[in-house]
Amino acid sequence: MKWTRGVVEKKTIWADGLFTLEIRAPGVAHFEPGQFLQLGIEREDGHLHRPYSVASPHGEVLDFFIVLVEEGRLTPHLWKMDVGDQLDVSTRAAGSFTLSKSPSASVLWLIATGTGLAPYIAMLRTRTPWQRYSKIVLVHGVRHGTDLAYQPELAQWSAMHGEKFAYVPVVSREQLEAALSGRITHCLANGSLESMAGQPFTTDCCVMMCGNPDMLNELISMLGERGLRKHKSKEPGQIVVERYW
Ligand SMILES: Cc1cc2nc3c(=O)[nH]c(=O)nc-3n(C[C@H](O)[C@H](O)[C@H](O)COP(=O)(O)OP(=O)(O)OC[C@H]3O[C@@H](n4cnc5c(N)ncnc54)[C@H](O)[C@@H]3O)c2cc1C
Repeated sequence: MKWTRGVVEKKTIWADGLFTLEIRAPGVAHFEPGQFLQLGIEREDGHLHRPYSVASPHGEVLDFFIVLVEEGRLTPHLWKMDVGDQLDVSTRAAGSFTLSKSPSASVLWLIATGTGLAPYIAMLRTRTPWQRYSKIVLVHGVRHGTDLAYQPELAQWSAMHGEKFAYVPVVSREQLEAALSGRITHCLANGSLESMAGQPFTTDCCVMMCGNPDMLNELISMLGERGLRKHKSKEPGQIVVERYW
C-alpha cells in the first residue's frame, strides 16, 4: 500500500470518544463519496492501520468520523490525536459503497448506525444525490442523543431541501422528543420509521446501509420480507451494504 503523510487540521469532539478528524493529506488520488481510505501509524511492532470511510468528498482536507473502541488497537491512538499531529493516509481509496454503483430509483434511503453516517455525509455534501433522487431519507441509529453528530449540517440540509430530505434520528438508550426510540429494526417493525420518514420502503427505493453487522443482517432480512433484495450487477436489487466489522 502507498502512503502519504497526513496532518490533523481540526478535531471535533461530538461526545466522549466520538470525534471527527479533519486531515490534510495531499497526494490522495481522486475518490468517490462512500469510498474508504486507510489511516495508520508506525509502531514498534509494525505498521498499524484500519479502513475509514471518508466523511467528505475528494479534496486536500479529508474528514473522518471515528468512534473510540476502548479495547481496540488503533482508535485509542487516533482519539489522542490533536491539531498538528501526523499519521499515514493511504493514497488510493477503495470500496464500491458509492452512488455510482447503486441502483437507480426514485427514493434514496441512507441508513446508518454510529459512525456508519460517515459515507453519507460525504455523499450529501455533493450535488449528485440531490439531483438524482426525488426524496432522500437519512436514518441515524445511536445510543444517546449526544451521539447524533453533524447536527448543524443536517439542519442546513433540512432547511435547504424541505420535504425532499427527511432526517430520522433513532436513539436506543433514552427517550428524546425529536427522535424515535429503540433500535432501527424495532422502529421498522412498529411502523414509526416509515411514518417519520413520510416514505414507505418500496421496490422503487435504493437502500444503502452501513455500520453494525447485527443491524445490517436484521434489516436485510426484514426488508427481504417486503420484497427488497441485495443489489448485484447481474441481478439488480435495491439494497447496498457496507460492513464495518
Ligand atoms: C470499509 C470500512 C469502513 C470503516 N469506516 C469507519 C469509520 O468511518 N469510522 C469508524 O469509526 N470505523 C470505521 N471502520 C472500522 C475501523 O476500520 C476499525 O475497525 C475501528 O476503528 C476499530 O479499530 P481498532 O484498531 O481500534 O479496533 P480493533 O482492535 O481492530 O477491534 C475491532 C473491533 O472493534 C469494534 N468496532 C470496529 N469498528 C467499530 C465502529 N465503527 N463502531 C463500534 N465498534 C466498532 C468491533 O467489535 C470490532 O470487532 C470501518 C471499517 C471498514 C471495513
